Amino acid sequence: MTATFSRRSALAAAAALPLAATARSASATTQTAPPRPAPAAYTRQFKLGDFTVTTLLDGSRPVGDAKAIFGGGASDDDFAATSAANFIPADMAQFFFTPTLVDTGQEKILFDTGLGKGGIQMALAEVGLTPQDIDVVVLTHMHPDHIGGLTTEGAETFSKARYVTGRLEYDFWSAQDKSGGIGALMAQKLTPFAEKLAFLEDGGSVASGISAAASFGHTPGHMGYLLDSGGQQLMLTADLANHYVWSFAHPDWEVKFDMNKEAATAARRATLDMLASTRTPMIGYHMPFPAAGYVETRGSGFRFVPVSYQMMG
Ligand SMILES: [Zn+2]
Repeated sequence: MTATFSRRSALAAAAALPLAATARSASATTQTAPPRPAPAAYTRQFKLGDFTVTTLLDGSRPVGDAKAIFGGGASDDDFAATSAANFIPADMAQFFFTPTLVDTGQEKILFDTGLGKGGIQMALAEVGLTPQDIDVVVLTHMHPDHIGGLTTEGAETFSKARYVTGRLEYDFWSAQDKSGGIGALMAQKLTPFAEKLAFLEDGGSVASGISAAASFGHTPGHMGYLLDSGGQQLMLTADLANHYVWSFAHPDWEVKFDMNKEAATAARRATLDMLASTRTPMIGYHMPFPAAGYVETRGSGFRFVPVSYQMMG
């Protein structure tokens, strides 16, 4: 998925009104509220065997004309009916951008980096970390909302980390025109750190218990990652399915951001089918925060079942 968003400006706008209201009520009364910890608004932690898995909300924003993005090949009636049946409007989608941190006990491994607007730094701070605490950055694919956070104001964000990505994905994008688009973004965000970059093939291992699972189609070398610790498994599906209703209920509906629609659809169906039949939880980069859930079959498609209190340790 490709999009731009500034959480800082959204936060500033959202903060302005309640802050003014609080100031007024404070001056009207002498009451002081007891101190309490801030709610964990941008992070959610899960336990998976010996791994601690943290989803990090980098940003979120509404986007209009949802059918043009997620309903390729669907009739207007079918798109509206699926939306209504799932209690969401048919004309807009809320986008979420959620990198995931896996702490194996030995290393802190970050999957994707966000939009590069400062959201991931805020989320990491919420769990007491800075970008310098990250040991490994894994890139599932090269879309701007996944590689945008590699640099911050021109400087390397995760300066102590080594980088890992799929060889096919890197080779495809590094061969593109560097005067604009993703070719230019990669030349700016990743190529300068190429000496720290290692490449994986399908099935390749990032660390013990973390292996690449090819799901080519969204981009030519897009890969998810299977986590396996203490007999428990979870799949980071990245951009395999980009909307929690439309792309699950109708995996064959074409998604605007999928470069190869046919391959993306086949990968979506095969992976969701595997997750449903094995009851393996997943974290999807664009699922509603906290981005984790389960997959069940439903009719000729699937349904995303968001986590409630599973994997709390
Ligand atoms: Zn994306």
